[in-house]
Amino acid sequence: IENNLYYRLGIDKPDRGQVRVLQTDSGKVWTYGDLSDMAKSLGQKLIRLGVQQGDRISVQVDKSVEALALYLACLRIGAVYHPLNTAYSLVELDYFIENAAPRVLVCSTDREELLTQLAVRCGVDVVLTLDISGTGSLVSDLPEAQDSAPVSVNSSTAAALLYSSGTTGRPKGIVLTHENLASNAEVLVDLWGFSADDVLLHSLPIYHVHGLFVACHCVLLSGASMLWNAGFEVHKVLEQLGRSSVMMGVPTYYSRLLSLPEFDSGSCKSMRLFISGSAPLLSSTFAEFERRTGHRILERYGMTETGMSTSNPLNGERRAGTVGFPLPGIALRVEDDHGLILAAGEVGNLLVKGPNVFREYWGMPEKTAADFTEDGFFKTGDLATIDAEGYVAIVGRSKDLIITGGLNVYPKEIELVIDRCDGVLESAVIGLSDDDFGERVVAVIVPDGTKHEADLEQGVRRELQESLAGFKRPKDYIFIDSLPRNAMGKVQKALLRERFAD
Ligand code: ATP
Ligand code: MG
Repeated sequence: IENNLYYRLGIDKPDRGQVRVLQTDSGKVWTYGDLSDMAKSLGQKLIRLGVQQGDRISVQVDKSVEALALYLACLRIGAVYHPLNTAYSLVELDYFIENAAPRVLVCSTDREELLTQLAVRCGVDVVLTLDISGTGSLVSDLPEAQDSAPVSVNSSTAAALLYSSGTTGRPKGIVLTHENLASNAEVLVDLWGFSADDVLLHSLPIYHVHGLFVACHCVLLSGASMLWNAGFEVHKVLEQLGRSSVMMGVPTYYSRLLSLPEFDSGSCKSMRLFISGSAPLLSSTFAEFERRTGHRILERYGMTETGMSTSNPLNGERRAGTVGFPLPGIALRVEDDHGLILAAGEVGNLLVKGPNVFREYWGMPEKTAADFTEDGFFKTGDLATIDAEGYVAIVGRSKDLIITGGLNVYPKEIELVIDRCDGVLESAVIGLSDDDFGERVVAVIVPDGTKHEADLEQGVRRELQESLAGFKRPKDYIFIDSLPRNAMGKVQKALLRERFAD
């Protein structure tokens, strides 16, 4: 029982019963006791429906407290929670449901009919509904909460099945254990100084690591509370900052706050910490945020397979363009392609080992085996450097590395220059095959509409000529209306490479 993540989070602790755990954006207050009761009732309902330990519960619903309680219910009874991005279409869901083979599927009422057909095709027994308002067949006729203990689990018992974002290919199912999630939460609470006094501003979705695990676990484990928003609405968030102490967000949240002229240090009087992750935080955003508010955003790095692996320090220098240091208990190293450990400052493949690292890719034993070294390090697929002081910087993904004429070119370095040119909205630099060079550097640019393409290209060429060595400069420029992105908003370079291969 003590190993069950639900137990370790302390949600049922008697002294917390009356303590507030969250307030929704419609003003409804939930105590820890309310959340605990809801998790117990939902757990009992799932068991009545025939759910057994290890069964997957696939969930594609809008954010609600009931959805959070459903996750907690799964932990309690030893079922495996499988959240799905709400953006996924029915065609995409086909893959996830067939692959995850859940016992129960939970969706919104407006999708019930179509998903029931899908469920029948995939042999799923039960389809339940849960809507944004927190109503639906999942929560109707709920049994009254019975006092019971969470099931006992061991160090390899699965708690959740999360799929990667699908930036580099088809999303992979990732099996995370109670121990993976609990160990990471305990480290973060300590590292980021969480206490029962904290109020976390929660605007993230809860179908991925950031919003569900990092944010909710830190709050629940420390007995803190949160302001719970259905989504990120910048004016609302600005108002709530005055009643919060910690905010977690993706980089766009911070640039959107900065776009409000009234956002300044006065808006952040009660805030002690701003945390950013999921995608690289631009140094310019970091600098502007500090200038306007006096706060240095704390950037950290992780992935679905590992939860959090590095973080800038709470006390100590938070360095822009880096993701800080390895977390306590987690080992990191940077190697070349032959497994040779590289010296400080050199770019190479990033590997991670620790209690945070996932158990396996779901149904992909060969892939799992191939992605671990003999001594148990996981190959993240990211390129990074670790400097002499220990700061880790993420350079990009190894799949996106361009090798031209035998020289390594890191797309991010070029994109940073292009993106600051006049008339550029955003860019992606890719490698396309080339008879002469092996690969040729190509810039794909989305103009912001203020300049003619010819002038824009000339301007970008001039800027790159001044800032970068010749072999790094793009040979071709392609202008398009928008970059292809996955459901998490990440640019899919593999699709760009395919599209422009000829
Ligand atoms: P897939 O594995 O299916 O291609 P994905 O890797 O995008 O998708 P996630 O697990 O959601 O799926 O994302 C993890 C990746 O996001 C990391 O491997 C890294 O490339 C990137 N990332 C996360 N945080 C940061 C950060 N702070 N700075 C730079 N990159 C980051
Ligand atoms: Mg990945």
